[in-house]
Amino acid sequence: MEKKDRFSFETHLAHDAERNPNGAVVPPIYQNSLFTFEGWDDIDEAFDNRLDRFIYSRGKNPTVKAVEEKLATLAGGEKSQLFPSGMGAISAAVMHCVNAGDHVITIKNLYGPASNFLASYLKPKFGVEVTFVEGKEVSDFENAIQENTSLIYLESPSSAVFSLQDIEAVAKLAKSKGIKTIIDNTWTSPIYQKPLAMGIDLEIHSCSKYIGGHSDVVAGVVIGSAKDIDAITLKEYEWIGAKMAPFEAWLLLRSLRTLPVRMKQHVENAKAVAEFLENHPKVQLLRWPGAKSFDQKALAAKQMTGLTGLMGFQLRTESLDNIKAFVNGLQLFQLGVSWGGHESLIYAPAISYLKELSPEQFKGLGISLGDMRISVGLENKEDLIADLDQALSLI
Ligand SMILES: *Cc1c(COP(=O)(O)O)cnc(C)c1O
Repeated sequence: MEKKDRFSFETHLAHDAERNPNGAVVPPIYQNSLFTFEGWDDIDEAFDNRLDRFIYSRGKNPTVKAVEEKLATLAGGEKSQLFPSGMGAISAAVMHCVNAGDHVITIKNLYGPASNFLASYLKPKFGVEVTFVEGKEVSDFENAIQENTSLIYLESPSSAVFSLQDIEAVAKLAKSKGIKTIIDNTWTSPIYQKPLAMGIDLEIHSCSKYIGGHSDVVAGVVIGSAKDIDAITLKEYEWIGAKMAPFEAWLLLRSLRTLPVRMKQHVENAKAVAEFLENHPKVQLLRWPGAKSFDQKALAAKQMTGLTGLMGFQLRTESLDNIKAFVNGLQLFQLGVSWGGHESLIYAPAISYLKELSPEQFKGLGISLGDMRISVGLENKEDLIADLDQALSLI
């Protein structure tokens, strides 16, 4: 048995000294484009085993591979392939599953760029049909299946409105019809939800969020069976050529050592902040799987083992002046996109929606001007609550 199989995941993530040259406690960064060989027979053999040998860093690289092994073990997959962004991972995984003219079923509140990739890129260029469903019921997916459906793409909880899909039931339905399944599992991190064990074919993460955790790296990963991942590595990874940089991979190796403890603290802080917001008179609604009003509690308990620090809430005001005063009044929660890092952040969907839609139009999407999204970071939770409290008093 390999050493890694005998330990829990926290130990496996924290402990990587055994594989390093010279007993270095932190692995080196293999910052090289190519690898050289003993002679003709050696390079000949390497070309026959290009998934296991190092030849050229657009293919396999030792620093990148070390992270891939850790992420695959953590998610319970056989193999994984890193990409230089979450969108790189998503587009490669989708293209692995879908041919021109196929049909994809996904959720209405899908992560924006993934939705655009399907509906505004694959559809016009390659005739891929896309059906967007609510996704809270398995029948939403079942009723949308067509003769040419080749992929069901999930995101649970969705990072926009935090709605869930029944992962095990959808995976079972898809398997019975020979349809591939992908899930974007970024919100829970690989720690609090294990979709591969529930029958999903490919699990994706934006490593720019909790896995990276320090807001200093953009990366993505696809995890799954050796058969699927080897095919993705040899085609979508090597041929499209968006390769993972060894230094970025090394940053992820650093991040993975503290992922379990960081997640615990994000959750503890998020619970305190959520309780404060839920009880505040100027807050209309909390959007979070841990919220008192969350409508899919039983499903969350069935398929998730933890909450995380990204949540939404609605201010009890529609006045843009008041909303701006609140956002600008925050001192610890910095204004910016993305989430999952050490620092607390705030973003208001209205900032982007107002550029394209009227307030009435985006109300139709179930979102109001006063909708806020926060990523609860690792700061002291009393400080975070005090910051929200003083900014709410400005409304
Ligand atoms: C950020 C994000 C992505 C895309 O990841 P990048 O690393 O920014 O390309 C995909 N899915 C979700 C849910 C995200 O939040």
